[in-house]
Amino acid sequence: ALQENLGAAFKTLRGQGKLSEANMRDGLKLVEKSLLEADVSYEVARAFMKRVSDQALGEKVLQSLRPSEQVIGIVYQELVNLMGPVDHSLHLKGKGEVTVLMMCGLQGSGKTTTCGKLGRLLKQSGRKPLLVAADLQRPAAIDQLHVLGEQLDIPVYSDRTSQDPVKVTGAAVEQAKRLGADVVILDTAGRLHIDNELMDQLKRVDSRCSPDQVYLVVDGMTGQDAVNSAKAFNEALELDGVIMTKLDGDARGGAAISVKEVTGVPLKFMGTGEHLENLEPFHPERMAGRILGQGDMMSLVEKAQQEFDQDEARRLEEQLSKGEFSLDDFLKQMQQIKRLGPLRKVMGMIPGMSQLLGDMDDVDAEGDLRRLQGIIHSMTPAERRKPKLIDHSRRRRIASGAGVEPHAVNELVKQFDAIAPMMTAMAGKGMGDRMKMVKE
Ligand code: GDP
Ligand code: MG
Repeated sequence: ALQENLGAAFKTLRGQGKLSEANMRDGLKLVEKSLLEADVSYEVARAFMKRVSDQALGEKVLQSLRPSEQVIGIVYQELVNLMGPVDHSLHLKGKGEVTVLMMCGLQGSGKTTTCGKLGRLLKQSGRKPLLVAADLQRPAAIDQLHVLGEQLDIPVYSDRTSQDPVKVTGAAVEQAKRLGADVVILDTAGRLHIDNELMDQLKRVDSRCSPDQVYLVVDGMTGQDAVNSAKAFNEALELDGVIMTKLDGDARGGAAISVKEVTGVPLKFMGTGEHLENLEPFHPERMAGRILGQGDMMSLVEKAQQEFDQDEARRLEEQLSKGEFSLDDFLKQMQQIKRLGPLRKVMGMIPGMSQLLGDMDDVDAEGDLRRLQGIIHSMTPAERRKPKLIDHSRRRRIASGAGVEPHAVNELVKQFDAIAPMMTAMAGKGMGDRMKMVKE
């Protein structure tokens, strides 16, 4: 997988104490190889690597960062540049006017599902969508859309007697006006492979009905096929955006890079599951992090730098340099991290941290933090500094003070032991070391 290969490449890069032009080139070769193996097209990978090495070789080596980390930073930033900038807007017209969104793509790419997902999103934001079955190839496709419409309580327009998607679309827009619907979502037909008949049909709908936005739905799991189809669709139609589906599995993500580079069309949304709520705005940072196999770590590191209380950090740094890290500090760190955003999301970004809070939702996580706080506050200062002091009888005292079972105290201490080294790294050290901690 791309992640593993890039992981290996970065390991090689990291292994270099000092980065020379020669050993950096070796590392970058590995990065390039990984991109190619992840179905990033050859031209895209070459152009990408040229940009990265121009920057990496030209860059003044910062003292605070290990050079290898700097290179990784450049690769990351380039990936972000490549997949961005994003434009999440659907460019809807004002209320009272009808906006037509047309979905196209190969069969099975997720068009119909995505129509439903977008419809749901629009309805939530107070719009009145109308789903239109312009996929007239298979009666089952019409049924599928009706089922979605019923589930979402969104009207569906179809005409089973027609073979002409242009006519159906025209009639659907009229229907939308009658119903007071303001967004028409066209579910068009796909083929297993690109063929002229499909393209001609779509081109006719595009030119005769002039949809306001034409979105290509691509299956993120299909790699090079996704790139080829994106190219063909982009030549035939004027695409306004790409929606990449099936990014919930271990899809490689390489397709996102190439599709953007090849079409120049912004990636707008990503499908992250079969359910209708599984549609998310596309974030280049997240995807770059995912491609680099680091979750959202880079953005977390940046965010953490901005938001962590600098004075507190300095104080902690001092203590840490003396090898002191207490449960009080632990709690402060947890609270600082909480300030960064919805707890579950932030926690999910830190390797190992998600286990601490488990799979609970944000509400639970908040409650958990309060419980944590309750337990820590029931300890004496000495115990907070040295959790090893906590024996059987102290544990029972703390537990009854906090209103929890003794094993909860035990759990907390165990979690503290596991997390303390990481917190130490997060807390006081420079950016370089933070990044190092993050990636190792
Ligand atoms: P269409 O032929 O392009 O209309 O594709 P469909 O909308 O019928 O989807 C094809 C299959 O992909 C269905 O089984 C969907 O449930 C599934 N699917 C669509 N989007 C996603 C996604 O984001 N994640 C996953 N896991 N499956 C998806
Ligand atoms: Mg379909």
